[in-house]
Amino acid sequence: MWKSYKFRLYPTKEQGAGKYVELVNPYNTSQECSGCGNIVRKGLSVRVHKCPECGIELDKDDNAAINILNICTVGTTERA
Ligand SMILES: [Zn+2]
Repeated sequence: MWKSYKFRLYPTKEQGAGKYVELVNPYNTSQECSGCGNIVRKGLSVRVHKCPECGIELDKDDNAAINILNICTVGTTERA
C-alpha cells in the first residue's frame, strides 16, 4: 500500500506531477500510455507522449501523472 501513501502526499496533479515522475520512474509511468497501456519508448528530451496504438497525444508529465493516479487510486478515489 505504499503507493497509495505516496499518492496522498501529493493529492493534486498540479502540485505533484514532477515529484510523481521521480518517485515512480522504475514503474515505466512515463513510458506507458495512459489511454491504452501500450509502452511508448521516448528519450528524456521528448516532452510529448504520442501513442501509435490509441492515438492519444498529451504532455509526457500529464501522461505519467494519469498513470500514477491509475496505479494509486484503483477504485478508491476519483481521478483529477
Ligand atoms: Zn495508447
